[in-house]
Amino acid sequence: MAYFSEFTYLAASILFIFGLKALSHPDTARRGMNLAAFGMLLAIIGTLVRHEILRYDWIIAGLVIGSAIGAAMSIWMPMTAMPERTALSHSFGALAASLVGISEYYRHGAELGAFKMTAIGFEVMFGGITVTGSIMAFAKLSELVRGSPITYKGQNILNVSLFVVTAVIFITLIFLPGSSALFYTMVGLSFLFGILLVLPIGAADMPVVMSLMNSYAGLASAATGFALSNNVLIIAGTLDGFSGFILSILMCKAMNRSINNVLFGAFGAEASGTATQTEGVMREVSTEDVAVQMAYARQVVFVPGYGMATAQAQHVVRELAELLEARGVTVKYAIHPVAGRMPGHMNVLLAEANVPYSSLYELEQINSEFPTTDVAIVIGANDVVNPDARDNPQSPIAGMPILEVDRAHSVVVLKRGRGKGFSGLENPLFFKPNTGMLYGDAKSSLSSLTHAVQQA
Ligand code: NAP
Repeated sequence: MAYFSEFTYLAASILFIFGLKALSHPDTARRGMNLAAFGMLLAIIGTLVRHEILRYDWIIAGLVIGSAIGAAMSIWMPMTAMPERTALSHSFGALAASLVGISEYYRHGAELGAFKMTAIGFEVMFGGITVTGSIMAFAKLSELVRGSPITYKGQNILNVSLFVVTAVIFITLIFLPGSSALFYTMVGLSFLFGILLVLPIGAADMPVVMSLMNSYAGLASAATGFALSNNVLIIAGTLDGFSGFILSILMCKAMNRSINNVLFGAFGAEASGTATQTEGVMREVSTEDVAVQMAYARQVVFVPGYGMATAQAQHVVRELAELLEARGVTVKYAIHPVAGRMPGHMNVLLAEANVPYSSLYELEQINSEFPTTDVAIVIGANDVVNPDARDNPQSPIAGMPILEVDRAHSVVVLKRGRGKGFSGLENPLFFKPNTGMLYGDAKSSLSSLTHAVQQA
């Protein structure tokens, strides 16, 4: 059985690596998920047959409860609440790692050698930070806690001091593993640090925090693997830890945040500055006008954002695009890396609606095309098309790369009213002379547009 177990671990690790590779492209992402899920199933089977397991009743109870919670979350939580769901999952994963670490310490305590104590220390430290940090991220994203940065005097000093004290206790434990008071103090401080780390971060910067937490959860799992001499945990945890960290860096770039700023939790201090004073009126346009513009355009670029996700308008967009293409219009989709509420959100939705991947253009590819685009249709996007990020150095989002739709000949913004984007900032795009506002739920506006283009 030991050989069988090791074999399943090896197979699972290979499947995780191929799964991760496949996830890097929307065309193969679904296959990647299936490969990784199958790998996880193999790893679970390989673990269940190990001789260390003496009874199954608690395991079965955990499996039933966990599966019920997981199934309920995936069935009933909407796609738009995916970041909240991910935050909760990270928190559960990290809690499992922390509890394994605490139980290992409880069982072996003073007998632990320096190597195992180091692994367990990492496990509970990163695990503890991730548990409460992810719960805090969940609370902020779901607005149970104020989403804007919560700051107070001396916050950074307190956070850094707390981290240093926790790290010093950790190092001391490597030499004095028998000191259980120190161990449990470290656990408590890690839980506290997770809360304090996320408190000053605004909800708009939460994607970076989420992927960083993902990275911490991965590191905690890898440390668990060292503590338990379990290869699949070491490999899966390392893959998770580093892919999460790389994603954090990529998202920092996309949101113009420095990684240092993320690591030391000082986002709140940066969220100052002023948005451009927007005067004038927003020009409302009619469905018929927009339909005629699109029907006789050479190139139309759709720019989806969070509003397309809430309206579930992806299928109607594809229908409209096909109609336009049949009339000889070139249709492209401009995808911002942080449009929506999770990385790849727009790609997932458009893939679900069978929009060909070749029609999707990333920010760097499409921005040079806007000056020659006849109509840019902004579908429930706001922050990712806010020209203030480019033009106003005082703006809180200054420097964030944007889709430069304002450079298109004509811009039409589909939104319900005067609602602000995730950052809570006003958007000068809506007041520009070449911008028209088409008010209404994105799905019904697009349906009406489709109908009107058919008549045009
Ligand atoms: P956004 O700035 O949040 O703006 C969304 C807009 O959609 C709102 O102004 C809203 O205006 C409109 N809207 C909402 N429901 C709608 C509906 N049913 N029909 C039509 N319009 C609707 O979205 P974004 O431009 O995609 O930017 C994403 C933001 O989220 C960024 O600030 C990003 O940093 C942040 N974020 C991203 C991620 C990620 O990983 N992608 C995760 C978390 C946060 P009305 O209320 O007037 O309709």
